[in-house]
Amino acid sequence: MSLFLRLLFRNRLAGFGAVVLGIIVVLALLTPLLPLQPPNETNTANRFLRPLSEGHLLGTDHLGRDLLSRLLWGTRLSLAMGFAAALVAGLIGAAIGVIAGFFGGRTDNVTMRGIDMLMAFPYILLALAIVAVLGPGLFNALVAVAVVNIPFFARNIRGVTVGIAHREFVDAARLAGMGNTRILLTEIVPNIVPVVVIAMSTTIGWMILETAGLSFLGLGSQPPQADLGSMLGEARAAMITAPHTSIVPGVMILLIVMSVNLLGDGIRDALDPRLRSGALSRPMAATRVERKQRPTAQGEGLLRIEALETQFHVGPRIYRAVNEVSLELNPGECLGLIGESGSGKSVTALSVMGLVASPPGVITGGAVRLEGQDLIGAPYEVLRSLRGRKVAYIFQDPLSTLHPLYRIGDQLIEAIRVHEPVSHVEAHSRAVKLLDDVRIPNAVERARAYPHELSGGMRQRVGIAMALANDPDIIIADEPTTALDVTVQAQVLALLDELRRSRGLAILFITHDFGVVAQLCDRVAVMYGGRIVETGPTAGVLAAPAHPYSKRLIACVPELGGGRRALAAIPGLPPAVDDLPPGCAFAPRCDKAKPGCRQGNISLTGALRQVRCLFPEVTP
Ligand code: ADP
Ligand code: MG
Repeated sequence: MSLFLRLLFRNRLAGFGAVVLGIIVVLALLTPLLPLQPPNETNTANRFLRPLSEGHLLGTDHLGRDLLSRLLWGTRLSLAMGFAAALVAGLIGAAIGVIAGFFGGRTDNVTMRGIDMLMAFPYILLALAIVAVLGPGLFNALVAVAVVNIPFFARNIRGVTVGIAHREFVDAARLAGMGNTRILLTEIVPNIVPVVVIAMSTTIGWMILETAGLSFLGLGSQPPQADLGSMLGEARAAMITAPHTSIVPGVMILLIVMSVNLLGDGIRDALDPRLRSGALSRPMAATRVERKQRPTAQGEGLLRIEALETQFHVGPRIYRAVNEVSLELNPGECLGLIGESGSGKSVTALSVMGLVASPPGVITGGAVRLEGQDLIGAPYEVLRSLRGRKVAYIFQDPLSTLHPLYRIGDQLIEAIRVHEPVSHVEAHSRAVKLLDDVRIPNAVERARAYPHELSGGMRQRVGIAMALANDPDIIIADEPTTALDVTVQAQVLALLDELRRSRGLAILFITHDFGVVAQLCDRVAVMYGGRIVETGPTAGVLAAPAHPYSKRLIACVPELGGGRRALAAIPGLPPAVDDLPPGCAFAPRCDKAKPGCRQGNISLTGALRQVRCLFPEVTP
């Protein structure tokens, strides 16, 4: 609730609307208690007194009635009518919409055609017709305004419901054996409520205007009862001679409708969950950089990550996702980065090209040198020209990285033409060649396929082809085979390995599977809690892991034909990176931990093989 208010008041205009409307509502509520003159008492001797006259702050009308008193009583009535009409229209309309959208088929057809019939009449004409049938009067005007607004809510809510009714969580509820009523109440309605509230808050202003309009025409409140519309109607004859009689209710209508609309916009923004999580700001094109000092050491090598620190600043919490990570990648080399889920592998990889979403991501230290050039804090244009051309990414889930509405050939052509101004025909032939390179059979025809027409393994190959499109020097593959089955995984790994050898690619291969590392990587870095805990040549680390964590990870890989043994698991959970313990982050789960492991800063020692442990399993 406090978050909602904070978001609401961040929008200045909405805050202004809330304050103005608040004052008006409080005045309307207090009206019976205020020392006002009776609103309907006529005194023809005092007709058309100007504002600020003795005893009449806002003057009097054509019957000598006190305008201030009539204004407050009229505002009270108009507000009540507007809110009541919005509530009635919103509830009935939403109920119709939810039922039509959820049940679909004939129910949907019959109700929606009925709604369409209502919508076929001009709005105000329909309201007039309803009042004409029911007879003039406050209640009938309210009914008319509510009825003409029901179609708006019904159509709106039906659309939203149709979208929700086919989502997986509704199917899951059905599979769990829930009945229709239960699903409607517990799964659908909670998702609809914000939409109804938003629609109501943005239409109340309209409803107040419409009820005032009916009263203006003499069809709503009946004399002598005042509402804002009837006050305007009665003042019409004296518009020129006594303008204040129209200006007073007119200004009040303006204030009410304006503040309701401003507030409604603010509520809509504050209730939108997408705006809520990302705050009201868009992610930046490159990760925010806040380095206290520039690292000075000049490194060689194709890609050098030096003491990289990437954090997430979420409110008062700081998540240290990547903590002084240093890695080096040489041409033609494959470096494995391994660790449990949440250890900071993806954030490390995304930091290289400034792809961590900001907010909340911030790079707070270190350097990333590509052929000697520091990429951290580099201008966006520089990063953009390197992304995809020098350093390309392959992600875990190819279905979410491919655009569902474009043919894969066109997506490849787009990737090529971002960096090279070649003709469409040439780009097309290169796209087909790429598909051929990643062993997609019948490449010419497959280029015309949409992503959903391919199998998971083929989609991942398309992802690899896209990464190869601009002949990059480095490919960063973030768990590219995790979503694939074992045979396809083996094919994709073999393909990557061959591409590396034939094109001299350097690969940073991220995985949580030591089996995959053993197959593909020359060197491996083990990551835990945002830090590198061990690095070295793959064969050496596999044969004699030095860090207890690496040893436990390797023990988790099942051995084919290695006899029956209980599968190892590492008890406990990885630490939360917003609250890392001092000393070794693995100590709470390590059976060799001694008191010394839980304090101070344990550094990475060694040369070719490095380990961050006070009591390593073997001395590298
Ligand atoms: P993985 O090693 O599985 O790829 P990640 O690099 O994705 O792990 O995540 C590293 C850590 O950063 C995790 O603990 C995660 O909770 C945290 N993290 C990632 N994104 C965000 C975010 N937007 N806000 C806060 N924390 C995040
Ligand atoms: Mg990841």
